[in-house]
Amino acid sequence: MPSGADLVVFDIGATLVDGPSRGPARRIAELASLDDEQRRLLGAALMTRDFGSPAGVAAFVREELGAGGSAVDAAVEEVWRAQTGDAAAVDGGAEALVAVAAAGYRVGLVSNIWQPYFEAARVHFGAFFDAHVALELQVLSFRAGVAKPSPEPFRRLLSAAGVASARAVMVGDSYAYDIEPAAAIGMRTVWVLHRPEKEAEDLVRVLDGRAARPARTVRSIGSVDADLVASLEA
Ligand SMILES: [Mg+2]
Repeated sequence: MPSGADLVVFDIGATLVDGPSRGPARRIAELASLDDEQRRLLGAALMTRDFGSPAGVAAFVREELGAGGSAVDAAVEEVWRAQTGDAAAVDGGAEALVAVAAAGYRVGLVSNIWQPYFEAARVHFGAFFDAHVALELQVLSFRAGVAKPSPEPFRRLLSAAGVASARAVMVGDSYAYDIEPAAAIGMRTVWVLHRPEKEAEDLVRVLDGRAARPARTVRSIGSVDADLVASLEA
């Protein structure tokens, strides 16, 4: 039985998979000529609603955002389909998952993600998820209806796992979305500086002592293994 922690929770985007720099709401907004406010509302909805199909998203754009035009259906369809193949596995991610699971830790996921991009992640990690991550420990924003940086998805996962926050570790690339909310509820944290340029502001806050220091900071997910998790003190 591993000491110190019972559950290791992974973020997905930019932690286990890399994708396009422009998110789906921005791409749909450009193709369908949505304004900034419509794009913002679409972005929030894509992450927190289970639309089920491109038609569901298109209906939302028309009925709730009031954006018409013949371009809407084609735009949503194009971006949805593209996203199902948009994920590339990050080097070392599969090894990290396997190492942590093999050492006896339970594994969970907390991710801000929509259905087609989760399908893309599953191309690489679906077999692992199915074998090692119980469905109730896969807290995906589009199914859960809540997104990070709210602490709610973290709380939901801990509650489903029956694990106290102090015995759970969060592994993620984003200080604002992964590290800060997880630490705030008492989880231990491993900050994976996969895209340090995107994290520069928070990195400066941490170095200046204006933001809490993660338990560990690593350059790559490939550095995450059972020894690192075991070294985190409760
Ligand atoms: Mg991420």
